[in-house]
Amino acid sequence: MTFRDLPIRQKLRRAILTSCAVALFLMSGTYILFQYFSSRNNERSKVATLASVISANSSAALAFESTSEAAEILNALSADKEIVEACIYDVNGNIFATYPAGLKKKNLSAKPATGYTFKNSYIEGFVPIQQNGLYLGNLYVKSSLSRLHSRIRFNIFIALLLIGTTLIVGYFLSEFFQKSISNPIHSLENTAKTISEKGDYCIRAQKTGNDEIGSLTDAFNRMLDQIKLKSDQVTEANLECSKLAAIVDSSGDAIIGFSENLIIDSWNTSAERIFGYAASEVVGMLISDLFLPTQIDYDSIIQRLKQGEEFEWFQTQVKGKLDNKIDISLTVSPIKNSNGELIGISQSARDVTAHKKRELQIIENEEHLRLATEAAELGTFNMDLIAGTMIWDARCRELFGIYNDEPVSFEDSFLNGLHEEDRDRVLKTIEDAFDKKISGGNYDVEFRTIGKTDKKLRWVKSKGRVFFNEHNMPVRFIGAVLDIAKQKQDEERKNDFIAIVSHELKTPLTTIKAFVQIVLSRAKKEGNTFVVNALAKADTQTSKMSSMLNDFLNLARLEEGKLILAHEDIDLDELLKEVVDEAVLLNSSRPIKLITCANIKINGDRDKLCQVLINLISNASKYSTTGSPIEVGCSLEGNRVKVFVKDFGVGISLADQKKLFDRFYRVQSEQTKTVSGFGIGLYLVSEILNAHQSQIEVESAPDVGSEFYFYLDSVS
Ligand code: ADP
Repeated sequence: MTFRDLPIRQKLRRAILTSCAVALFLMSGTYILFQYFSSRNNERSKVATLASVISANSSAALAFESTSEAAEILNALSADKEIVEACIYDVNGNIFATYPAGLKKKNLSAKPATGYTFKNSYIEGFVPIQQNGLYLGNLYVKSSLSRLHSRIRFNIFIALLLIGTTLIVGYFLSEFFQKSISNPIHSLENTAKTISEKGDYCIRAQKTGNDEIGSLTDAFNRMLDQIKLKSDQVTEANLECSKLAAIVDSSGDAIIGFSENLIIDSWNTSAERIFGYAASEVVGMLISDLFLPTQIDYDSIIQRLKQGEEFEWFQTQVKGKLDNKIDISLTVSPIKNSNGELIGISQSARDVTAHKKRELQIIENEEHLRLATEAAELGTFNMDLIAGTMIWDARCRELFGIYNDEPVSFEDSFLNGLHEEDRDRVLKTIEDAFDKKISGGNYDVEFRTIGKTDKKLRWVKSKGRVFFNEHNMPVRFIGAVLDIAKQKQDEERKNDFIAIVSHELKTPLTTIKAFVQIVLSRAKKEGNTFVVNALAKADTQTSKMSSMLNDFLNLARLEEGKLILAHEDIDLDELLKEVVDEAVLLNSSRPIKLITCANIKINGDRDKLCQVLINLISNASKYSTTGSPIEVGCSLEGNRVKVFVKDFGVGISLADQKKLFDRFYRVQSEQTKTVSGFGIGLYLVSEILNAHQSQIEVESAPDVGSEFYFYLDSVS
């Protein structure tokens, strides 16, 4: 492992120890070298001094050529163990005396040498021997350097020991000091590792001091703050991107992205569905090639987008993968970078094939409707209740005597165009139609109009429907108006006919009934059972016929507005009993339960109220099976009295209940189709009770039975 790759702890330790070692080596080396050279100088001085003394002493011996004296002088060198050799040469360079004695040495040349030289582990040198300036010979001295060398070795040993000890101490000190540097760095490293492993940028490094590492920790933490901020922004941007991608992908529209050079770079799921190509097939292709032959001029689109032009949705037709023609509505929008430069184009396309078909269908339907309204001579109206506008077609205008195209209004054109006798009723019907709970939004009414310009009276029937918003507020009211003048004429004729016939039949029928009753009482006296029975039946039938004629006459009077009431106080129990008795007489096969309410008097037209009850009992009997019971009665509720007729017969559906009191309305069902009637009984009941400021009500359920009831004020 190279130094560079070592852990910082080791690096620091090595740096400290290496620095210590190098410093110590240099210091010790220098010192030892200095010691070595100064010791050598000392050694040389010492040898030179010794040699000078010996040379001075030996000059006499040499002058007198006394070898023994010379040998003795040399022998004095034995006091210094370092002197290993010495030799005295005469003037000719011949050996004169040696130390130790008998040493074989080469003769010196005639010219004696001077000075000292170090050779290996010795120092040797020559000193001239002179007397009174006369050269007598030379002294050669060789001294061992072993003492110097051993001192140097010792010094080296001490130096090494010192270095070793210093390094050991340095090691422990470095251990201690490196922690203060490496620990914060390790802490930084661990923080960085944890962050990179967990991706959690909320973790922060702990600052341990205010040195450079402290500043580094601060800088690191600041960097983390910025990274966290950026990371949050990136996460948010990614989230936005994925949201956008999800929106684009889940959009019902085909969303296609392409570059300025028309290369497709994105293709969503709806594009796959609408055009049939998978994204992998088309990404990278030229969009202009894909929809060939196409009516879309992409080059010009790009030019126009660059000039900042915006595109509305426009419709065109392209070919899908299966060569199928697809009607699309499309728009293109620029994709710009933050500098506002165009970096791509997004094309949204909506498949309008089905929509186009529907449009065609609507046009056809409208045409049918137009033909139908024309054929039926229906006028139509359309009220926008939010905008407060009203539109009438030409036929509708005609039915109100308006022959121009000027705008129409509810107050001026409609309300003022109504016959004043019908105005309140029509307004009430409209009010009900606007109340979803009451009418379900249905509007159906007949009324008279007085032509605005021609002042002509017209009978019209209007049917319509109110549309409500999610808060059940009416928002639109549309419908049709039909001229029913002919129908009204027919009805009038029918009414006239019924009135005349009823009137004309009434007198003979009363006479017949009188004669039948006279003959019946005679037959009873004579005890002729057969005749009694026959006449009793004839009497019943004439009563039924008379009741029917009463209905017709009342109807006719009602139509003519001649229904006049003869008010009187009536004992309700008496009235009910009388009616029930008559009903039992007319239909003996059916049990009728009478529920009385003692001593209650009401005020009204006795005959008409009788007719109301007879009609209700007759219906209860007609629309229930033979033998099924009927309940007729009254009950006091506060100061109002409820009068009711209840049966357990076929019952009436809710839909029929709404129209039950209309003139000539009869329920069309399997159970009622065999029952004879004209559909005027309940109409009369309703009208007679209205004239008494009361109202007929019904509670009924199919196959369970019906209860018809009304309230009257009790009089004390
Ligand atoms: P109709 O002469 O047909 O009886 P009404 O005006 O008396 O004429 O009644 C209108 C319709 O109401 C009837 O055709 C019948 O279907 C229905 N109706 C009236 N009373 C009852 C009843 N008690 N039970 C069931 N249906 C009834």
